[in-house]
Amino acid sequence: MMAGSRRILYLRPFRSEPDHHLIVALSAILAKFGSLVAVGTTEAKNTLQDYCEQRETGSPPINITFVECTYEEWKRVIHHEISTADCVLLYIAPKEDDFPTMKGREAAFPRMERYYSSPFKDLVTGSGLLREVLYLDRLQMIERTIIICNEEDTSYIESMIALTSTNTLFFMSTAQGPRAPTPRLWALDRQLARLRHAAGTVPFTSHDTASIRSRFASNLRRQVKRAIKRQSDGHGRTEAMDPSAPLPINVSDDPRRLPPDGELKIVSHTNVEDLIVIPNGEIMEVPPRKAQDMLSGRATRKGCPTCKGAVERIFFYIYGLRWNPDEHVRAKCQRCTSYLMIEERRLIEV
Ligand SMILES: [Zn+2]
Repeated sequence: MMAGSRRILYLRPFRSEPDHHLIVALSAILAKFGSLVAVGTTEAKNTLQDYCEQRETGSPPINITFVECTYEEWKRVIHHEISTADCVLLYIAPKEDDFPTMKGREAAFPRMERYYSSPFKDLVTGSGLLREVLYLDRLQMIERTIIICNEEDTSYIESMIALTSTNTLFFMSTAQGPRAPTPRLWALDRQLARLRHAAGTVPFTSHDTASIRSRFASNLRRQVKRAIKRQSDGHGRTEAMDPSAPLPINVSDDPRRLPPDGELKIVSHTNVEDLIVIPNGEIMEVPPRKAQDMLSGRATRKGCPTCKGAVERIFFYIYGLRWNPDEHVRAKCQRCTSYLMIEERRLIEV
């Protein structure tokens, strides 16, 4: 592909505050590479258009491709856009005024004996952004993703990526006894860990002087150039996940090679894009209705034994690609990642 015809996908927290200023600036900075692709509602497109029309004459040219979609279509549209992008800019910003902070008792990581009963910690508000990270990983685009954030948020974001990357199977030995290395984290928040393989982070500051602006611009251009080069090097693609394979979305009665391991899986009742944790190995989904019939009324009402999430948030499956009544029905909680099994009409943690 020739320079100037690249697609640079811009992702941001869905339904967040208007970011017209940033999107227009990014498009002008990256115009020589190609088009900045943004995804959003028709309303968002119209307000962006109004903003662009009000710009002073003589402002730098903008090259934005706006892909319109409804909130319902968003998960599928974003898959398509990620799979056709040359490089991705991921704007991470708090949804409210600030990221949640860990205060007092929450800041101390729980003792081993209390870890499994300690409350889950919300790291980031805005599940849309975390889903984008999940999809970037499934489509093997993390290594061509550049994080953009306000300089003030850089250290928070970096520490959250490090925190979620920690292996929680082990406990740290401290003078006060063994402690968990992290608070208990939701499945979706854990997706942040995938960003440790991102191409880089380019922070901007709100002190908007010309020299800072030009530093941000040259830094961003350098990172984008490097990320695009990684594409031609075939970086990050594994044999198991053929990049020309159909997108990991929708349901199908046929076995498909799906993330995270590229093994054959039959996912025939839950849209793959709605799943946060897909089990490893050759598996077959057990229809939710059938699985719930195997549970007592009490077990169904109780939901996930780990996080008390609704039973609808649990994905049921068996190993193998064909229904076998002797196979244990296993389950993965999509809320807390807990690994479960149906035994004597109850859900138990494994
Ligand atoms: Zn759970």
